[in-house]
Amino acid sequence: MQIKFFNTLSRKVEEFKALDNSNVRMYTCGPTVYNYAHIGNFRAYMFEDLLRRVLQYGNYKVTQVMNLTDVDDKTIRDSRKNNMKLQDFTRIYKDAFFEDLKKLNIESAEVYPAATEHIKEMIDLVQTLMDKGFAYQAEDKSIYFSIDKFPEYGKLARIDRENQRAGVRISTDEYAKDSVADFALWKAWDENDGDVFWESPWGKGRPGWHIECSAMAMKYLGKTFDIHTGGVDNMFPHHEDEIAQSECANNCKYVNYWLHCAHLMMNGEKMSKSLGNFFTLRDLIEKGYTGREIRYVLMGAHYRKQLNFTFDALAQAKSSLRYFDELSIRLKEVCNDSAELLSNDFFAAFEEEFEKAISDDLNIAGALAVIFKMGSEANKLLDNNNLHKSDADKFLSLFRKFDRIFGFLNVDEAKKDEIPAEIVALAEARVQAKLNKDYAEADRIREEIKAAGYTIEDAPKNAYRIKKS
Ligand code: AMP
Ligand code: ZN
Repeated sequence: MQIKFFNTLSRKVEEFKALDNSNVRMYTCGPTVYNYAHIGNFRAYMFEDLLRRVLQYGNYKVTQVMNLTDVDDKTIRDSRKNNMKLQDFTRIYKDAFFEDLKKLNIESAEVYPAATEHIKEMIDLVQTLMDKGFAYQAEDKSIYFSIDKFPEYGKLARIDRENQRAGVRISTDEYAKDSVADFALWKAWDENDGDVFWESPWGKGRPGWHIECSAMAMKYLGKTFDIHTGGVDNMFPHHEDEIAQSECANNCKYVNYWLHCAHLMMNGEKMSKSLGNFFTLRDLIEKGYTGREIRYVLMGAHYRKQLNFTFDALAQAKSSLRYFDELSIRLKEVCNDSAELLSNDFFAAFEEEFEKAISDDLNIAGALAVIFKMGSEANKLLDNNNLHKSDADKFLSLFRKFDRIFGFLNVDEAKKDEIPAEIVALAEARVQAKLNKDYAEADRIREEIKAAGYTIEDAPKNAYRIKKS
């Protein structure tokens, strides 16, 4: 399976080639642990989960690093607001983050380095940039990266060199493209930092957000690695600054493939904490939705397309998942040994189409279309009582295989709705009424079953299925 990705660096779809044949090294920007992650953040982590699953499906071993930003402007600001020590404050949200990942069935990264545990690596990297003349200490005692020294600055976000304001400095972690400036590598302590500081050759202070990722990526993945990802908002300044620091310090290419996911939107705006238009995973679980349904929604759209979050989409997810659950149950119940066997090509075609889709820049919509097509073929055969047990097993194995990518089909966990005995008795009475040709009574019973919250579906030879409505 030849995998292709849209590389933000070239703005082109490229064939993926790993630096080391079978092992992919990738860095995924992780959460800033100052609050519960919202489902917009989880869209990014879901896209990264899909990416690692596709790589694994393509027989690569994946080494994924996801950092935990546990010291930056926001974590310091909010831990102080809550009168808590930074470590105690961020611990709450680190733990919550891992619980949420589990609920969404997101596979674990191989390493989750916390910024506060890598201060030495960050200081060393800043020192290298100072030694090589790419950084300088300003009057405010902070250390800044001089964008003027790196002619390639702006190559990821495609920033016009004309707009660069060398010598102008910006000390906040986040800023817009029109504020391009020398950015802080190391921030000298000021009173807003309270008791958060580390000693360094330039006095007490703390790392800037961008240097955190460069230092941790280098430590765990090497100076040049395969893939770096994040939400599209990370492209500038965060990833642009990472490239500048890393390439100047190491004098080699930082990352081969940059992948960015589009935003999860709410009513036409980016879902974000600062706009206040967000739901955390916890909010939705409290409202009765499951991690599996939320996973289905977040994964359902192509990662480079904006996805509008709605409760209708969650309802749709519930019904799609129920459709597949019922199909799994039906496929396991098949025992028609006289049905004609399906050809191997019949199954191979699904597999081929599925792999074509996922390897084409993670075309999840194409992959979903395949399982819906399989579902409709399987149901047709089942309705006609024309599916051999061994073919039912082939359908099930293929669904299991494809679920290595989706992670929401859970073929072997699908359970039948518990149907109460009195409903089953009514259904039996209805069969009897039909045998007696008393169709008025049969219809009346159908309505009674419906009023009790169940639907009855007829199958050939007076067989039936009862489902919760
Ligand atoms: P943060 O905790 O703000 O650093 O964000 C963590 C990750 O979530 C980053 O990769 C962001 O780009 C991503 N992100 C934030 N908001 C959204 C959103 N509404 N949709 C998709 N990704 C997002
Ligand atoms: Zn990062």
